[in-house]
Amino acid sequence: MADYLRPVSLDEALAALARPWTVLAGGTDFYPARVGRAIDENVLDITGIPDLRGISTGPWGWRLGATTTWAELIEAPLPPLFDGLKQAAREVGGRQIQNAGTVAGNLCNASPAADGVPPLLALDAEVELAGPPGTRRLPLSAFITGNRCTLLAPGELLVAIRVPKPAHDARSAFLKLGARRYLVISIAMAAATLEIEDGRVVSARIAVGACSAVAQRLPALEGALAGAPVAALAGRVDVAHLAPLSPIDDVRGSAAYRRDAVVILLRRLLRGFA
Ligand SMILES: Cc1cc2nc3c(=O)[nH]c(=O)nc-3n(C[C@H](O)[C@H](O)[C@H](O)COP(=O)(O)OP(=O)(O)OC[C@H]3O[C@@H](n4cnc5c(N)ncnc54)[C@H](O)[C@@H]3O)c2cc1C
Repeated sequence: MADYLRPVSLDEALAALARPWTVLAGGTDFYPARVGRAIDENVLDITGIPDLRGISTGPWGWRLGATTTWAELIEAPLPPLFDGLKQAAREVGGRQIQNAGTVAGNLCNASPAADGVPPLLALDAEVELAGPPGTRRLPLSAFITGNRCTLLAPGELLVAIRVPKPAHDARSAFLKLGARRYLVISIAMAAATLEIEDGRVVSARIAVGACSAVAQRLPALEGALAGAPVAALAGRVDVAHLAPLSPIDDVRGSAAYRRDAVVILLRRLLRGFA
């Protein structure tokens, strides 16, 4: 390793990032990517920065600090809006991974199979980035641009994930399909957030992961669900709604299998709201 630094303030971290450092949070993506070779890059460990910890709330919504782990998220007292993200959190690796791995690290690593991305897309989440010119906010849908690609600029840190408060009562859910029940990379996954009034959907946000380089919202399905009674959502899912997806054949499943599986996942997911 060239240098290792564990700053205790955000200012110290941002000052250090004036030269190239690889950011380290929980290390659960960082270390497996370096098995069998020496770590020869400068490593900036952000886990000692108090400002990056914890979940806060205000009239506008919720803010998850960048070093919030999956386990902290699972244990946080959050409304049903977060049920889908918590379901995803419970399926990220096992408890040891959930104790160390961060939600923000999952986004920055930008794997097509990152379980945090679909539920956060369905929550209309934004990322807050801090760098030399100051702080900027981007919709998560714009932040991840491809397989392992984000708009994080050199010298920038993701400092928080922001989730806006919906206009109506809202619930969310998440379903993941893997080759076995736990400790598995997703073949496909689906997340939904529904705003509900008088038993009908006022607005729906649906996202699917592991079926394209970046998880995708399904606007046509979202439109088809608007106004529908909560008890009759699954029947509205149509294969045509999957147009934004571009699944690939790989060791975990064929593109055709993924398409079939997503339709079933979406129907199951929506039945769960009844
Ligand atoms: C056994 C095992 C099982 C796993 N299972 C799953 C699973 O089921 N689902 C799943 O989605 N993932 C899984 N993962 C992957 C990993 O645990 C998650 O992606 C985790 O959320 C990564 O967070 P981290 O804090 O460990 O990131 P790190 O490894 O510390 O960092 C990941 C990347 O993001 C960058 N980074 C991290 N934080 C920031 C920041 N705040 N600002 C800028 N850059 C940053 C780092 O430089 C690095 O490139 C698994 C990993 C292992 C080892």
